[in-house]
Amino acid sequence: MARSSDPKDPIHPTLDSTRFAGGELHKFIFEGLPVRGMIVRLTGAWTEMLQRRQSAGGYPEPVQRLLGEMCAAATLMQANIKFNGALILQMQGDGPVKLAVAEAQPDLALRATASVIGEVPEGADIAALLNVHGQGRCAITLDPKDRHAGQQPYQGVVPLHGDQKEPLHHLSEVLEHYMLQSEQLDTRLVLAANDQVAAGLLIQRLPVQGEGNLGGRCNEDDIGLDEHYNRIAILAGTLKQEELLTLDVDTLLRRLFWEEDIRRFEPQAPRFACTCSRERVGRMLVSLGRAEVDSVAIERGQVEVGCEFCGLQYRYDPVDVAELFSPVVAQAGGTHTVQ
Ligand SMILES: [Zn+2]
Repeated sequence: MARSSDPKDPIHPTLDSTRFAGGELHKFIFEGLPVRGMIVRLTGAWTEMLQRRQSAGGYPEPVQRLLGEMCAAATLMQANIKFNGALILQMQGDGPVKLAVAEAQPDLALRATASVIGEVPEGADIAALLNVHGQGRCAITLDPKDRHAGQQPYQGVVPLHGDQKEPLHHLSEVLEHYMLQSEQLDTRLVLAANDQVAAGLLIQRLPVQGEGNLGGRCNEDDIGLDEHYNRIAILAGTLKQEELLTLDVDTLLRRLFWEEDIRRFEPQAPRFACTCSRERVGRMLVSLGRAEVDSVAIERGQVEVGCEFCGLQYRYDPVDVAELFSPVVAQAGGTHTVQ
């Protein structure tokens, strides 16, 4: 148990406070066992998302908690895959939350938003927020960065109930279900959020020891049978949300897994960043069609589009609108113009 002096046990990094102002993501493996783990703590990235929503009145507490947990989960899931594109975690609901979205880019740039209509009961869980009539859904989309024409993003969808149709009450249960269904990966997730921190712990059984892909795994009956994974998952399950929100990562790992041999990796730095741009908003307006955009421009003197993720307002006066819809000769190669 002389773990702390183990030369393989890395550094307990002193985090550069500027670089990690948005938050920290730590990956680790259990030495010699087919189990890996990750902890994310979003701090500045999360409070910035909340601040940007303040002008619109902020989120009711249960929605804030849901969105924070979604941000933590999206960061963990993005960091868990090798994929050059956005990971988009979306909850579509039939309760007071119609839609909640958390997006994580490969460099862990994050953004999130939720649309809420009507009363949110105090202490509402995901069943009360999103699944009042059993129509709630959770979708995970992988959208490749340089998607070529006709290429569809990959999407997996899971309902907000379990195998016996019982409603699920926690986002972590929904996502554990998703991981098992879509990736055949045993996963234990603990998620928590308040108005300062959004955090998550992920423990996952590696498909095959020493192999990073699913190709080598032929026996799905093995799921749930690995004693090492089970022991570590049970330990992870003892983590209380309050501890996840308040303890630093070193303390947390020591307390949970003090008997395990953990190897840690260089931490990553998630941050808030929005991918919206005037060009993208312009393309969206063009897709609506000239008649509709013109009618708004004439009626209100300008078209105003607000980004729901970052709160930025994009304004187009009638001259801008005309420009949007004018054929760009250079781009079209100068051969055809649409009147
Ligand atoms: Zn934006």
